[in-house]
Amino acid sequence: SPLLELSNVHCCYGGTTAVYQLSLRVMPGQIACLLGPSGCGKTTTLRAIAGFEPLCNGEIRVRGEPLSVPGYVMPPEKRRMGMVFQDYALFPHLNIYDNITFGLRKLSRRDRRRRADELLELVDLQGYGERFPHELSGGQQQRVSLARAVAPQPQLVLLDEPFSNLDVELRERLSREFHDIFRDQQITAILVTHDQHEAFAMADEIGLMRDGRIVQWDTPFNLYHEP
Ligand code: ADP
Ligand code: ADP
Repeated sequence: SPLLELSNVHCCYGGTTAVYQLSLRVMPGQIACLLGPSGCGKTTTLRAIAGFEPLCNGEIRVRGEPLSVPGYVMPPEKRRMGMVFQDYALFPHLNIYDNITFGLRKLSRRDRRRRADELLELVDLQGYGERFPHELSGGQQQRVSLARAVAPQPQLVLLDEPFSNLDVELRERLSREFHDIFRDQQITAILVTHDQHEAFAMADEIGLMRDGRIVQWDTPFNLYHEP
């Protein structure tokens, strides 16, 4: 059964409808991507899934439970979602250890440190724990923000244009790295991007978006081989 299900979702800003009649399902362990030009409603959809954007119609369920329906949004602490943003959004005054373990304050100091070391290894940044975000390159900062997002073992990781601030070469390398991490860790992820290469490199399934709708939903293989 699907981990995430959007049924007939509409999101409105005042009089304008940014997302229209949107339905999709994501199975556990899958990487789904919403691909489309600027303004087509990708970020609004992601924000709705994250619970930041109330729906004006339809429903969003996670493991069958209502996450967002008109008039109800599941409280943040129950949603268990990790987010990765285009601008990394690290805390500049915290070192990398403290950035990564920010969501793990319930653990003892020792367990936090152990988990942080595991995560630094996962994103290939062993030895960077004591540094500060400004001492890292853009690619390294984005790997830290992935580590922070997956630290509390979320049920879903949401990525909004994660590589758009990076140069082409680094973008390709990080798409592969993130893809491999999601596979290894069996993480379910939703990626939003306007970059076709990124979508094809990372996703199991791609939803093509235009004007607030999904116009096609298929595997990269089928989309690529379409006549
Ligand atoms: P994308 O992420 O694909 O670039 P968005 O979801 O950001 O698209 O935007 C979809 C549509 O909703 C656009 O027409 C945009 O102008 C509009 N929109 C987005 N955010 C707001 C907002 N806070 N207030 C009013 N309109 C908005
Ligand atoms: P990447 O290919 O991962 O983006 P870069 O080639 O940009 O890495 O950076 C290479 C090295 O330079 C890294 O070890 C990084 O820690 C260091 N570095 C990058 N930016 C800065 C900075 N602003 N201050 C100090 N060191 C930096």
